Parts: sequence; structure tokens; C-alpha cells
Amino acid sequence: MTDGLVTDCIFCRIVAGRAPADVVAQDDEFVAFRDARPIAPVHLLVVPRRHVASLDQIDELDEAVAGRMLRFVVAAAREAGMQQSGYRVISNIGRDAGQMVDHLHWHIVGGRRLGGIG
Ligand code: 5GP
Ligand code: ZN
Repeated sequence: MTDGLVTDCIFCRIVAGRAPADVVAQDDEFVAFRDARPIAPVHLLVVPRRHVASLDQIDELDEAVAGRMLRFVVAAAREAGMQQSGYRVISNIGRDAGQMVDHLHWHIVGGRRLGGIG
């Protein structure tokens, strides 16, 4: 079994290569792939390979890993060509935010002018 794999977690399955995804970037700690239901021309998800339920459980990640995660998010956005045009980074936490997948993930959304949040 892959270290930390939660077999009923779809993002763990994607990270382990056991479920299909359009992966655009990855290293030994994080994976970026296209959201299956994009809300904008570019809609990526970045996840740590290690299962952490949400950003609220950030303390379960080593501080250095957490820092590298944000750098990975920005690098993925740049690779998608959005550094000049801009983009939005979102992490939904829990019920009121509408979190559907309980594996920490960052939405990177862009490629068009986005409306306000809320
Ligand atoms: P949340 O509301 O949890 O922040 O968003 C979860 C996101 O994951 C949604 O935008 C949804 O479209 C995406 N998603 C859910 N299941 C899959 C999947 O199996 N593959 C991919 N690529 N995206 C998924
Ligand atoms: Zn998981």
C-alpha cells in the first residue's frame, strides 16, 4: 500500500495512479491536475500526495512541506500561463464552503475575468 493512501479517497487514488486524471505537474510531494468540472478555462487542483483532510488540518503537514506546497501552487499557475493575466487560489474547508472532497486541495482558477467572491 502506498504510504498514507486512503483507498476510498478519490484524490488519494489519483495521486497513486489508481484513478485517471489529467495531470499537469507533479513532484514527490504534490500533484496538479485539471478539475473534472472546470468553472473557468483554466481550473487546476493541487493536492499533497499525503492525505490531509483539509487546510484546517495543516498542522499534520511538516512546516517545510506546507511552504513548498504554496510554491508548487504558484509554479503550477505560472506554467499554465496565468502569471500576467492573474488567477485565483481557493481552498474550501468544510460544509459551509462546500468542500466535497476531504483531501486538502487548492483550486487554481483563471483564464477569464473572474467575478467577486461571496
Ligand atoms: P471542493 O468543493 O471539495 O473544494 O471541490 C472538489 C473539486 O474536485 C470539484 O471542483 C470537483 O469538480 C473536483 N473533482 C471531484 N472528483 C474529481 C475527480 O475524480 N477528478 C477530477 N479531476 N476532479 C474531481
Ligand atoms: Zn486522500
